[in-house]
Amino acid sequence: MEKNELYTVTIEDMSDEGMGIGHADGMVMFIKDTVVGDVAEIKVVKVKKSYAYGRLEKIITPSPYREEPFCPVARQCGGCTLQHLTYEKELDIKKNKVLNCLARIGGIVNPEEYFEGIVGCDSPYRYRNKMQFPVSVRDGGNVVGGTKDHFDAFSCRMNTVLGFYAGRTHSIIPIEDCKIGHRVNKCIITAVSRWADKYHVTAYNEETGEGILRHVLTRVAFRTGELMVCLVATTRKVPELEKFISELSREIDKFRAGGNNIKLKSVVLNINREKTNKILGEKTILVNGQDYITDYIGGVKFQISAQSFYQVNPVQTEKIYEKALEYADLKGDEIVWDMYCGIGTISLFMADDAKKVYGVEILPKAIEDAKKNAELNEISNVEFFVGKAEEVVPDWLEHRIGDYDKNVSKIKKGVDVVVVDPPRKGCDEKLLDTIERMAPSRMVYISCDPSTLSRDLRILLEKGFKLEKFTAFDQFSRTMHCEVVTLLTREENK
Ligand code: SAH
Repeated sequence: MEKNELYTVTIEDMSDEGMGIGHADGMVMFIKDTVVGDVAEIKVVKVKKSYAYGRLEKIITPSPYREEPFCPVARQCGGCTLQHLTYEKELDIKKNKVLNCLARIGGIVNPEEYFEGIVGCDSPYRYRNKMQFPVSVRDGGNVVGGTKDHFDAFSCRMNTVLGFYAGRTHSIIPIEDCKIGHRVNKCIITAVSRWADKYHVTAYNEETGEGILRHVLTRVAFRTGELMVCLVATTRKVPELEKFISELSREIDKFRAGGNNIKLKSVVLNINREKTNKILGEKTILVNGQDYITDYIGGVKFQISAQSFYQVNPVQTEKIYEKALEYADLKGDEIVWDMYCGIGTISLFMADDAKKVYGVEILPKAIEDAKKNAELNEISNVEFFVGKAEEVVPDWLEHRIGDYDKNVSKIKKGVDVVVVDPPRKGCDEKLLDTIERMAPSRMVYISCDPSTLSRDLRILLEKGFKLEKFTAFDQFSRTMHCEVVTLLTREENK
């Protein structure tokens, strides 16, 4: 196989990156913008030892699962990868991916027997509560992908543009409305562009390090309708900020007049002077209103600031936590550990049904928020620790650090339910050893990567845990990511 050769390929599967997978000339081929079921003419762009990448030239027979992308820049944008696939098929692919991983990596025979199904989003669009748009200018900026048609589709014809990075680059594809985010973003984008053009607020240039506006971060609390807009700039001396507030308020008022219950609660300015890919700098200054917005997950209230970690699909998050709570089967007198607890969302969600919940998280800032959130909700039966779970929990087990009641009769075992919600790389093996020693009667494993989940399940099953059931959740529609909530029990405690 040589570069630039043309082949006709039938797409048999989808890769983790959302590319179509097929075969040609004895090689596995990865082809972006194709979907399972397509027959396509492709051009070879890169050849490796046993696989190759192709570029879609022409669809010969479209897949029955193919759908017209909803976004004019679907092909260029580095965000969604599954826009040209029906949502039904997307869920089916995710389900199969989970089952395959559990069988292949986890060594679980007939995983379907434990599977309670995949819970999709009510709609695969408009689910994100947070967006981060890099800023550039059409004129001389690092802007790509904007065909004339693409620009002509914009209702706002400003020089300053907000957008997304094109796949694997830092070139910016201007957008006006991203359909996985809230509709209000369009008003924010319009207001920022108009204001920056009018008052000559320059866009940051990554190469020269010059310019003022780097990013615009937006957050909407879905349950309360509260909106935060955070401008990320290289200086605190951003000109005419009060003009920005009026421009933005005008746009939001128009939006509200259309029957939307969005309230502009917070405008903040984050300062980032570093030459870095990190979006936010350390310092955030209040510009208007308050420096946080309030949202709820279940009955638990959260104050979210520009820097806070907060789940980006709140509707699915609530369903995931409900399932975790169901699997934990709390009666009110249990000791629970919530490992990788972030800002304490799961701990607080479960506290009402447990005797005591301990949380551990590596980021000190997240634990600060967790403590604040506990206070805000007047929840006192939780305790949080900062550190690596694989270090803090063994230490707790050994020395009973913190306020653990040393006299409770359950001292030998001490822990009834363990919840883990690790990042993609899964749990540290030392932590799994510790959980074995804790011998909880129930363990709920919330995972955002079915392959590391499967690897860890294999270990846990060898340690005597038993797989009871699992449910998959689609939290990031139009991308290949998939969450899984799993219940494990310990046979001797049943
Ligand atoms: N349970 C939370 C957050 C889950 S995300 C929620 O539902 O919102 C995973 C979290 O694990 C992140 O907050 C990350 O900072 C944290 N983390 C990563 N490695 C860790 C480790 N070794 N020990 C403890 N926490 C860790």
